[in-house]
Amino acid sequence: MLKRLAIISLSLFIISGCAKESEETPITPEIPVEVDPIDLIDLSLNPNESGKIMILMYHNIGDEEQTWTRTVDNFKKDLQTLYDKGYRPISLTDYVSGNITTEMGYTPIVLTFDDGNLNNYRYLDDGSLDPNCAVGILVEFNRTHPDFPLEATFFITSSTPFKQSQYSKEKVEKLIEMGMDIGNHSKDHMNFKDASQKDIETQLGYQAEYLETFTPAGYKVNTLALPYGSRPKNKDLEIYLQKGTYEDYSYENIAILNVGWFPSLSPYHIDFNPLSLPRVRASEMNVDNVGMYNYLSYYDENPNEKFISDGNPDIITIPEELVDKLTINESKELYTYPRQ
Ligand SMILES: [Zn+2]
Repeated sequence: MLKRLAIISLSLFIISGCAKESEETPITPEIPVEVDPIDLIDLSLNPNESGKIMILMYHNIGDEEQTWTRTVDNFKKDLQTLYDKGYRPISLTDYVSGNITTEMGYTPIVLTFDDGNLNNYRYLDDGSLDPNCAVGILVEFNRTHPDFPLEATFFITSSTPFKQSQYSKEKVEKLIEMGMDIGNHSKDHMNFKDASQKDIETQLGYQAEYLETFTPAGYKVNTLALPYGSRPKNKDLEIYLQKGTYEDYSYENIAILNVGWFPSLSPYHIDFNPLSLPRVRASEMNVDNVGMYNYLSYYDENPNEKFISDGNPDIITIPEELVDKLTINESKELYTYPRQ
């Protein structure tokens, strides 16, 4: 708030200063006039930063469409459809920390891929990136659509991320260098329903520590996609999904992702819980009317329910009737307006 007051008073000073002196002194064009960032927000775009955000869940990219496999052409179609409808990827970390940098008037989405299979990230025999793996398709789409950021998280289970051992480190480093992320999907793809504390801490601690042997220094594997979306029946053990210790290694997850079936809440919504985030299946097969295309159609008809960015991560803009749905920390500024 202080920063904003300072900007306003500076703006007033410049405006009033110019007005007084305008008769005698021409306005010097080199004086930079501070613009209040709020004045840059175009309310005709109906910004709504309390709206829903889809976390899309992919698994495999392959030749034949299956329940957990998207074909190359269908994955390309998904990206083009999202692009055309005004959706833009953000990182999972930015989403849960409320750092929404999406361009004004556009809707953030989070792309996720589970399991870390070869078809997610493959090098060909000549060492080049396979244009038909998930990463290859994403990179090419970003090249031809630079305003569709290269953001996605790959949740990796078991050993050898992306299943070409000679390239494991290179791939993980390159992925992170390009702006994408890797996350935890447990050591053995364990169903945590009947797991003990030791099971959970071993599965998550071992895997995070293992994955960090491939990441650049300082990079933390601190997001988790639950295998099968399953949580321990014993609710006292849920805390170990979030944090725990395996041997000398401690982990702490900032985001825990479920399997289905809904768009997620805005990170500024009072009920937002980063430790239980629903996802939407990015598929058209066996989606029970709660797949990606169902929600895209729904938001075409109900655009007021989706998150629409104001373009400024430090200002949270919402229609005034939704103000009691929000909780924002003091580093952010709330801006409300009457929706037409
Ligand atoms: Zn899985």
